[in-house]
Amino acid sequence: MAANPISCAIDFDRDGVQHGHLKLPHSRDDSAWGAILIPITVIKNGTGPTALLTGGNHGDEYEGPIALLDMALNLQPSELSGRVILLPMMNYPAVRGGRRTSPIDGGNLNRLFPGKPDGMITEKIADYVTSVLLPQADVIVDLHSGGKTLEFLPYAASHRLPHNRDLEAKCTAAMQAFNAPYSMIMLELDAVGMFDTEAENRSKVFVTTELGGGGSATPGTVAIAKRGLRNVLRHVGILSGEVELQASTQLDMPDERCFVTSEHSGMLEFMAALGDSVAEGDLIARVYDIDRSGWRPVEYTANRDGVVAGRHFPGLVKSGDTLAVIAVPAN
Ligand code: ZN
Repeated sequence: MAANPISCAIDFDRDGVQHGHLKLPHSRDDSAWGAILIPITVIKNGTGPTALLTGGNHGDEYEGPIALLDMALNLQPSELSGRVILLPMMNYPAVRGGRRTSPIDGGNLNRLFPGKPDGMITEKIADYVTSVLLPQADVIVDLHSGGKTLEFLPYAASHRLPHNRDLEAKCTAAMQAFNAPYSMIMLELDAVGMFDTEAENRSKVFVTTELGGGGSATPGTVAIAKRGLRNVLRHVGILSGEVELQASTQLDMPDERCFVTSEHSGMLEFMAALGDSVAEGDLIARVYDIDRSGWRPVEYTANRDGVVAGRHFPGLVKSGDTLAVIAVPAN
């Protein structure tokens, strides 16, 4: 098999703070012998576990990159027992473009794991993370939010892992330690190709988040990310001290009825807001035909009792879009 073309001058075994890049050759019209430089910081002190902390898996989700850029500046080796690998903008071309997917090859990084060393640019990034960074990590936090098209209640999440209940318990404990205002046992619409799935298949403790959305970040959601990252580092013993716990609402996504999918295109009027409790059959949203007046909007109702945990963000909706996510309170 071909070797991954990414090089990195950082010595992962050296104590101290190192800032550098993953250098991915990218020959193109405007730079014949050019490269994509993906920022990376490694902070290490002595022996202990390794945390791999990633943001920018999708390029239009900002809590992760902001919190990790802040951590790269401020986390001191003297605070640590172990190692922290920070990759704030994992799909760097997508972050640079302010897009979910890469403007170079259209790659959705979180659907291309484990990647290919001789594949498209985005597949090469996935392969490097899989083959070089993941094997070094004991715990991974991959920070997401809704991006331009979705908005979520701020939650940390772990997955149901029926084939590995021991790992499921460890992931859930780390997710609880992140201690976002909401804690979710999450069902994925399509788990194939996700970073999450690759890490879990390798029996790594994995925590993900959805911390907001709309293609921007707020002081509140960034604070949740910063605090959650430090809490996970305390939880695994890389940082000393107790995990700082506040009240967190436990949510579950038991099955497909959590998803309300639009079968129409038009203008969206939400009748329930994020965080609202709804009962099965309650009106969630109306979709108006924007080509005529005097037509009744199509009505969408909740498929189950629960809490509105996610919603379509833009004012216009298309057929096939996830309109809302209804999660079930677990406590
Ligand atoms: Zn994402």
